[in-house]
Amino acid sequence: MPDDPQPRRTPPSVDALLRSPALAEAIRTHGATHATDAVRAVVEAARASWTSGGAVDDATLVARAAAWLAARDVRRARRVFNCTGTTLHTNLGRAPLAESAIAAAVDAMRHPLALEYDLASGGRGDRDDLVEALVIELTGCEAATIVNNNAAAVLLALDTLAGAAVRGTRREVVVSRGELIEIGGAFRVPDIMRRAGCKLVEVGTTNRTHARDYVDAIGPKTALVMKAHASNYTIEGFVASVGEAELATLAHAATLPLMIDLGAGALVALEDHGLPHEPTVRETIAAGADVVTFSGDKLLGGPQAGIIAGRRELIARMKKNPLKRCLRCDKATLAALEATLALYREPERLRERLTTLRWLTRSRDEIRATAAALLPAFASRLDGVATVDIEDCASQIGSGAQPVDRLPSAALVIRPLAVRGGGRVLAAIESGLRALPVPIIGRTAKGGLWLDLRTVEEPEALLASWAAFVLQRT
Ligand SMILES: *Cc1c(COP(=O)(O)O)cnc(C)c1O
Repeated sequence: MPDDPQPRRTPPSVDALLRSPALAEAIRTHGATHATDAVRAVVEAARASWTSGGAVDDATLVARAAAWLAARDVRRARRVFNCTGTTLHTNLGRAPLAESAIAAAVDAMRHPLALEYDLASGGRGDRDDLVEALVIELTGCEAATIVNNNAAAVLLALDTLAGAAVRGTRREVVVSRGELIEIGGAFRVPDIMRRAGCKLVEVGTTNRTHARDYVDAIGPKTALVMKAHASNYTIEGFVASVGEAELATLAHAATLPLMIDLGAGALVALEDHGLPHEPTVRETIAAGADVVTFSGDKLLGGPQAGIIAGRRELIARMKKNPLKRCLRCDKATLAALEATLALYREPERLRERLTTLRWLTRSRDEIRATAAALLPAFASRLDGVATVDIEDCASQIGSGAQPVDRLPSAALVIRPLAVRGGGRVLAAIESGLRALPVPIIGRTAKGGLWLDLRTVEEPEALLASWAAFVLQRT
């Protein structure tokens, strides 16, 4: 009996424990199977105590079973507050979706959807039809196809345009040495080329590539000229590269297509919103690119997706490639992407509705106001342990967009009072923040913990989580 104060010296029967009133609540909440797993696990874990002559009472076992169940029920997909200063943080899920995109995704998940069904004719449709017309309208391309992410877009495009070997000889793709990029998570241009079955021909040098380098490298085996947008680094100083328009002219003179991996995929002139310029898909296509690939969840502000926009006949070949079937998106993604793209039809309301753009364009004053709303609760809770101040900082766009430019922002900066052992105090505060119901993820720098508040639009929600803060002293 769990209420028996007498500690047991032998393991109880699992069934007997499960019948105890103290477990009734757990069984109601978690179900009998789940509760049985818990009791088995805690009895098993305590077996060593009994073997060595120790004692464990039933109440302890019941409490451990409840804790075991609670721990197992914690979701791995947890919402967090991104206070890292990297606005579109790849490890924290990149772009937040706009409300209309969320609603569209939920609807698509809940109900049957005209996904590959033409409502006009009643015949079979193509899932790309959900968004293709919008991509054409917003970028000026002739056709488009959508895949799971931009890495998949590059793979599909390369495989289609340059993948098939001719009489045992791999076809060549010409790329500047300055653009052999690696994106986090092991996306490397040379590796993708190998996977797509084409041969990479590097031209120029790391810092300088000229038109004649491309011309010299183009031969009978060349299938494609490729340019990759250097999205997560810059090369400065004695540099030269060939612009899109010149490269397009040069490729077309050799009757080759030009493919540009744009990465970030801006659909509007960001400078109109006070942000650094990022090449837009429209201007890249207007410059003569035959195929442009970009991400849905970077600057575009939509769900994870890879968009391939370009010339009709090239896109048609990609749609027929069996790889497309392996790389296609699900219905919720396509519904969210359609709703996101539709927002771009009203540029004057874009900032208000597209969460990504709203975050990126928040002014320092606005962010400072958020910091001021949070300061008292943080300062009083950390009184005697650390100081809390509001300081200016600089956020990054993130996700490989504009690696150098910074956005003026503001942060709560937590600095331990004690000079000795300060590092440990800071680590304890950080882990306390990670243990909150909605974890708060910051960044340590210059002896302090910086909480950049650019992405925190609702200070009340953050305060509600902060209320559960516990400082674990080590
Ligand atoms: C981000 C990026 C990729 C990879 O895109 P994902 O959507 O993460 O798959 C490829 N190329 C460039 C230039 C990028 O910036």
